Amino acid sequence: MPTERKNILTIDCEDFLLLPAFKNLKSDIDLNQMIDNQINAILIELRNANDTKATFFIVGEIAKRNPDLVRRIRNNGHHLGSHSFKHSKAYKLTRSEFQSDLENSIKHITTASGEDVDCYRAPMWSYKPNMYWYWDVLSKKNIKYDSSIFPINRWMYGNPKAPRFTHVNQNIIELPPSTIKIFGFNLPFCGGIYFRFMPYRIIRYFIKRLKKKYNHPILMYFHPWELDPNLVRVQNIRTLYKFVLYHNTKNSMKKFRRLINEFEFTSINDYFINSSI
Ligand SMILES: [Zn+2]
Repeated sequence: MPTERKNILTIDCEDFLLLPAFKNLKSDIDLNQMIDNQINAILIELRNANDTKATFFIVGEIAKRNPDLVRRIRNNGHHLGSHSFKHSKAYKLTRSEFQSDLENSIKHITTASGEDVDCYRAPMWSYKPNMYWYWDVLSKKNIKYDSSIFPINRWMYGNPKAPRFTHVNQNIIELPPSTIKIFGFNLPFCGGIYFRFMPYRIIRYFIKRLKKKYNHPILMYFHPWELDPNLVRVQNIRTLYKFVLYHNTKNSMKKFRRLINEFEFTSINDYFINSSI
């Protein structure tokens, strides 16, 4: 394992219209402009935080329509992973559909960046244990790292019985998002709505507690739209979706800034550079 006790930072490079709740939303939002602005803001924050590196899981459709964005992320020294091509749930695809979606995403990320892709995250944590072919397909496409299994119990995703820490599945290193165990339950805090919902002091306490107890890197995940204090308001969406989409987006960049300045983070490949795992 690496000698440095850094943590791992991941960003899912997607716009919110790729989420199932908004897929059919009619909108005249300039998606390229929106994600350009959001990613640029994140790149600046990372540079200002002692040149912190991250792994960016890119949706292939975005790499296809906006290759400049992928190059810019790469040119800032960050690690690129695939977040599928169409952002469809992996468990809804057959083996061959999954494979061609993965190939398509890798093709566009590689074309845009000139880099091989060695890392994958299934959209919406959509790996399920009955996808026996999953690891085989990832291996065939030279994926070394996967971060698709959230060890929590949610109606749309998660597997509370999955290991909470980095482990190996058929030669692929699996990096679950960090959770804290409270009263026998794995509580998420390390990204998404959980990060937006919780006060920063609680998140800090959980990170410190986990680091002290396990001396294991914390893995956190963010979406560009969650860190956009001026996120465009869309009308005519259900109250629940409104809450999930906008809750605390006004303040989340400030919390993110505190986080990356208080704790040391790096990308997945940088973390494992000297690893023997
Ligand atoms: Zn996603």
